[in-house]
Amino acid sequence: MFIPTMDDLLANLLQSCKGAGMRKTKSLLALLETLIDHDAPVTLAELTAFPKLQTLCDRVTLYRLLQRLNERGIVRRLGLHERSAYFTLLIPGSHKDYLICTSCNDIKAIQAPCPVHALEKEIAATSGYKKLYHELEFFGICPNCEVT
Ligand SMILES: [Zn+2]
Ligand SMILES: [Zn+2]
Repeated sequence: MFIPTMDDLLANLLQSCKGAGMRKTKSLLALLETLIDHDAPVTLAELTAFPKLQTLCDRVTLYRLLQRLNERGIVRRLGLHERSAYFTLLIPGSHKDYLICTSCNDIKAIQAPCPVHALEKEIAATSGYKKLYHELEFFGICPNCEVT
């Protein structure tokens, strides 16, 4: 399988942004680099705390960038509430489903083969849809928050 390097990945993402009509600003570049560096989903609050981003753009600018990237299918938004939303890059060929605690907002990638790939194939076969994909988020109470 082809595994892209960080530089390839950044180049691909910038190409997608360009295709979506987004200007290549310093803020956009820094945001994409930060998201590439952090494999796990990050919140807006966490992103604004990165020194590189802090010096380049304010929270509102960052949020708008994330919204635009999300609308264009470059970034995935996770979580129930706008306030506590997580953001992560949507990388073709790499698929993850997530488990989120509704109490403390902890997030984990699910450590199991994706449970719905077989279903996805079946839906594609019966519906005639191409390029099918899904995004799953499971919500619950994590062991740390569970009151016994
Ligand atoms: Zn929790
Ligand atoms: Zn899945």
